Amino acid sequence: MNTQKQLYIKTPILESHRLRKERDKTVFYKMECYQPTGSFKIRGMEALCRHHLKEGKSRFISSSGGNAGYSMAYVGKKLGVQVKVVVPETTSPFMIDKIRNLDAEVTVFGKVWDEAHEYALGLCEGTNAIYVSPFDDPLLWDGHATMIDECAAEMAEPDKIVVSVGGGGLLCGVFEGMKRNGWQKAQVITTETEGAASFATSFEAQKIVTLPAINSIATSLGAKQITPKALALSSQFKVTPLVTSDRKAVDAALKFLGEYNALVEPACGVSLAVPYFYPELIEQGERVLVIVCGGVSMGVEKLLAY
Ligand SMILES: *Cc1c(COP(=O)(O)O)cnc(C)c1O
Repeated sequence: MNTQKQLYIKTPILESHRLRKERDKTVFYKMECYQPTGSFKIRGMEALCRHHLKEGKSRFISSSGGNAGYSMAYVGKKLGVQVKVVVPETTSPFMIDKIRNLDAEVTVFGKVWDEAHEYALGLCEGTNAIYVSPFDDPLLWDGHATMIDECAAEMAEPDKIVVSVGGGGLLCGVFEGMKRNGWQKAQVITTETEGAASFATSFEAQKIVTLPAINSIATSLGAKQITPKALALSSQFKVTPLVTSDRKAVDAALKFLGEYNALVEPACGVSLAVPYFYPELIEQGERVLVIVCGGVSMGVEKLLAY
C-alpha cells in the first residue's frame, strides 16, 4: 500500500454567482463538502494518524459516531491501521453502516456522546491505543489549518470568515491557519444553532461554560463544552458569534443544494445561513469566505422532512 499519497484533497474555492447577481455580495465558498469523506474532518484525522504512525502507534479509538469517526475510519483503512469507534445509542444505523463499511469496529456505548467518550478513554488506558477526540487535539487543528493554507495561496485575506462551531476544533484550525498565513484582520463570524451554542455562551461569559443539554438538529455541533483553546485563541482575533435557528440552518442547506447540487448537514447550513439570511452582516464591497464544512450524517430525505 502506498501510504505516502495525501488522502485529503485540495478543495476548490467557488465564488457565488447567485449572491453576486441577486444581492451584489462577494461570497467565496471553501468546498470542504467535496472531501472524500464529505467533511473537513479528514484533514485533522490524517494529520493525527500520520503523526502517531510515525511514533509506531497503530491502534486508534474514536468516540464519534459522526463525521469525525467516519473520517478516522476512512484514514485508518487507507493507512492500514486498526480503528475502533465507540458511538452513543443516539447514532443512526446509517452512520454505523458507513463506518463499518470501512472495516472499522463499532461499539455502541452510552446514552450521549460524553458517555461514549469516557468509555473510549477507558479502553485506551494501559494499552498503546491512541484516543482520538473529535475536536480537542492540537494535531487535528494543525491538519484543519491546511484549508486556510490553500485559501491563502489562492486569494487575498477576506474581510470576514464564517465558520461553524461544535467543539471548536474547526475554529482552532481556522485560527491556526490565519496565524501562519498572516491573516490578522479578518473578522471571524462563528455560527451555531440555538440548542448547541456552547461557543457563544462561553464567549459571552469569557469562561468555559458547560451546557446542560444539547437540543438541535445540527448534531455535529452537539458538544456541551468547547475546547478551552477555542476561547483562548478568540481573544487574539476579531470574533463575532452568531446563533441562529435549526430552521434557518436546514433552509440554508437546502438553498445550497439548489445552488451547487451539494448536500451538507445543518451543522454546515448554519454557516451558509449568513449569506442567505443575514445579508446585513455582509457590507457593500466586503469579501466573505464561508467554510463549507460539509457533513454526511444526514440524508436528503431527513433534511426535506424537517
Ligand atoms: C465536526 C463538524 C463541525 C464542528 O466542528 P468542531 O471541530 O467540533 O467545532 C461542523 N460541521 C460539520 C459538518 C462537522 O463534521
